[in-house]
Amino acid sequence: MDTLLKTHNKLEFLPQSHGFSEKLSNLSSIKIQSQQFRFGHKKFRSKRGRNGCVKASSNALLELVPETKKENLEFDLPMYDLSKGLVVDLAVVGGGPAGLAVAQQVSEAGLSVCSIDPSPKLIWPNNYGVWVDEFEAMDMLDCLDTTWSGAVVYVDDKTKKDLDRPYGRVNRRQLKSKMLQKCISNGVKFHQTKVIKVIHEESKSLLICNDGVTIQASVVLDATGFSRCLVQYDKPYDPGYQVAYGILAEVEEHPFDVDKMVFMDWRDSHLNNNLELKESNSKIPTFLYAMPFSSDRIFLEETSLVARPGVPMKDIQERMVARLSHLGIKVKSIEEDERCVIPMGGPLPVLPQRVVGIGGTAGMVHPSTGYMVARTLAAAPIVANSIVQYLGSDRSFSGSELSAKVWKDLWPIERRRQREFFCFGMDVLLKLDLPATRRFFDAFFNLEPRYWHGFLSSRLFLPELVLFGLSLFSHASNPSRLEIMAKGTLPLVNMINNLIQDRK
Ligand SMILES: Cc1cc2nc3c(=O)[nH]c(=O)nc-3n(C[C@H](O)[C@H](O)[C@H](O)COP(=O)(O)OP(=O)(O)OC[C@H]3O[C@@H](n4cnc5c(N)ncnc54)[C@H](O)[C@@H]3O)c2cc1C
Repeated sequence: MDTLLKTHNKLEFLPQSHGFSEKLSNLSSIKIQSQQFRFGHKKFRSKRGRNGCVKASSNALLELVPETKKENLEFDLPMYDLSKGLVVDLAVVGGGPAGLAVAQQVSEAGLSVCSIDPSPKLIWPNNYGVWVDEFEAMDMLDCLDTTWSGAVVYVDDKTKKDLDRPYGRVNRRQLKSKMLQKCISNGVKFHQTKVIKVIHEESKSLLICNDGVTIQASVVLDATGFSRCLVQYDKPYDPGYQVAYGILAEVEEHPFDVDKMVFMDWRDSHLNNNLELKESNSKIPTFLYAMPFSSDRIFLEETSLVARPGVPMKDIQERMVARLSHLGIKVKSIEEDERCVIPMGGPLPVLPQRVVGIGGTAGMVHPSTGYMVARTLAAAPIVANSIVQYLGSDRSFSGSELSAKVWKDLWPIERRRQREFFCFGMDVLLKLDLPATRRFFDAFFNLEPRYWHGFLSSRLFLPELVLFGLSLFSHASNPSRLEIMAKGTLPLVNMINNLIQDRK
């Protein structure tokens, strides 16, 4: 059974039964063996349908694991010329959304950039959801392939909340194609491999790749997501984990309105016939997140918001099967599945340090929600401008001095304070069982939209976050207030201590 392994600076997911390990960032592209999802000892025979999808009945949902689809974009990438041995201005390690966004923007200013990734043309595997206003603010609406006019939250069987805030699914193909296209026209060079280590000299760094190549760069950006290849951490790494299992499925029918996405469904009546599952769900609850694309095509994801240690994937899948069966959702085929393990909160990397970071590697996941893609894309221009400004034409800064300036722009004091507050939020969420979680979100989504929008989209800073906290408290029911006081006092004290210590 899968085991979460936590080490000081690395996080790995080790499927013991198969004797291999993969870095977390590559999880969703691991070809999963069907026996990992077998229930009991029963064996199901699955049929391969049209389009390579696997067909089976709903009670054998977990036998419907699709073939891994590794689709590459049709690009002719200009490769880094090894023979010249040039020192590039910026080497970006990792070609996810964070890395490519910075590569694109730094190269636009005329600096030389090399982007290093083992699969530079691969369409990103994760199914990204964002609030439409977040992408609108970045003029990126063309990179959403589906939008919903609003979202719903099922607090329990009796209470449903309609959220008047459009939600969208990111068009991964379009977003990556646009970024690659711009990188190519700006002169970015690509190198297809993994970086294994970095050696720093006074004004340049040497990246040692696992194909034996060394790439020299004035600035190194680690954008390797949660595998955190190069950035250093000096405090014990103790994040919470968001764990989720998602499928994009063709179904006979589903009960959801196709105009609304289901942001959270905390109902648990599907577990009434299984007291053991009901009890474990009551202690550490999971919810359904769903994006209905049509009456018979839907993305369904059973999600543990945050837990420490993370909820085992097997438990998540088991709860999902029970939920779908209860909702009368019969899965005909699965187009793709995703296994999501997102480290949340925990310490920031050493600030500053010689290697610069962005995205998963730089502690940018929202510690209370697990969201990051919009925040990272919005931060990319800050990092890019900073590199361009400090590296600039007169080369007045180099080495550690330059990196320190970039880190300061990425994590200014107000962002660090904001993150501290979000970590406080996570610490409270970690302690809530299902009834308390329901009461919490009942109050949360009753807040004025500017508060809950701002909290989810990292737009509130400390003074507003204090008002947000007070408002949440005033909207909470009496039991919820007591809970927040009982379970939030220690995290609050920790937060205040951390805020006092971090005043530079
Ligand atoms: C399954 C899943 C679903 C998610 N859904 C959402 C969502 O709906 N909304 C949201 O806001 N956030 C979501 N997130 C969180 C976050 O936005 C994503 O993880 C996002 O992909 C992080 O972007 P990134 O560029 O930092 O890292 P990644 O996308 O992980 O990219 C890292 C890149 O670095 C490469 N790499 C790794 N190691 C090396 C190395 N040694 N050398 C060279 N290259 C290397 C990898 O191959 C990869 O291409 C999700 C995360 C997961 C795992």
